[in-house]
Amino acid sequence: MRLNVPVLGVEEAAAVAEVLASGYLTQGPRTAEFERLVAAKAGVAYAFATSSATTGLHLALHALGVGPGDEVVIPDFSFPATANAVVETGATPVFVDIDLDTFNIDATLIEAAITPRTKAIMPVHAFGLCADMDAINAVAAAHGLPVLEDAACALAGSYRGRQAGSLGTAGVYSFHPRKVITTGEGGMITTSDPELADRLRVLRAHGAVRGELYMEFVDAGYNYRLSDVHAAIGVVQMSRLDGIVEQRRARARVLDGLLADVEGARVPVVPEGIEPTYQSYVVLLDQGIDRDEVIRSMARRDVETTLGTYGMHLQPYFRDRFGIGDALLPNSTRAHRQALTLPLYEQLDERDLELVRDALVASIAESRGR
Ligand SMILES: *Cc1c(COP(=O)(O)O)cnc(C)c1O
Repeated sequence: MRLNVPVLGVEEAAAVAEVLASGYLTQGPRTAEFERLVAAKAGVAYAFATSSATTGLHLALHALGVGPGDEVVIPDFSFPATANAVVETGATPVFVDIDLDTFNIDATLIEAAITPRTKAIMPVHAFGLCADMDAINAVAAAHGLPVLEDAACALAGSYRGRQAGSLGTAGVYSFHPRKVITTGEGGMITTSDPELADRLRVLRAHGAVRGELYMEFVDAGYNYRLSDVHAAIGVVQMSRLDGIVEQRRARARVLDGLLADVEGARVPVVPEGIEPTYQSYVVLLDQGIDRDEVIRSMARRDVETTLGTYGMHLQPYFRDRFGIGDALLPNSTRAHRQALTLPLYEQLDERDLELVRDALVASIAESRGR
């Protein structure tokens, strides 16, 4: 049983064929349509498709004025693209510990991480469960800082009735095949700030502004565009989005029930007012259970699992460069070692989820005290 399988049909193939036949392959009408659909879903004024969430995060940070000498506050527990996007601007990521219930940045620790160099706060909606954005926005407002949501996993997730990606100054979604919907590779920046939108538009495409006959280059920009080939897939995927998320939530409820009294594994904690996407269904194993041994044991039972995500301060690049000890980030360290992602997607039925439960129970028994 695989960890994740995207929901794709013949409609995506037809949409790609149509783009190829049109001869217009780069950013064009399909991208504009994809952007309109995502902006409408998020409830924001602007959306800019990018070649990935990583390039989207880099572009958004750059457009927010983040550069060398600056600091950006981020959670330590995330896919390392979060921190890499900060490093790419020349700024320094400042790692903050997480809340072990939600795997999200602990908002009460942000204040202490802010210095005169802080230029932005970048929360991550871990596995598609929104961070505590009201608390984060309050700290940011008190310091006059923009908030960039790493909403890579959170398209269609909501917080107190508002969509992930509309909760800060700007947000970024990912369309990697492991995310809620996919275009193969791709990302999207959302914002309702017209001045930021102007900068994003220009910086995404070479720093160029189109004149009557040719372009004028007003900034040192990038080429972070998404192609219409990819966007055509995204347009079709948007029509599936609500159904995909509904199916994931239904399966998460089944797994919650099946795992409720499995000893040693805590099911995801969802605070009141938050509707997660369950991009990943992540359980936290008790200390004393060897998580890596559980992954191997599950694989022997033909169930693919993986870690939750990464304690970034533990990765060689960040460890060598910043040398942050585990004592400062105890919850992220624990989550890095004890979190486990289980298979969850539309193609799994109740019987499959029971097999996951049975394999987990057996694997935990095998992996205790090793
Ligand atoms: C997947 C992911 C990214 C990177 O997305 P890409 O589209 O693959 O660049 C960034 N941040 C988080 C939290 C992610 O899960």
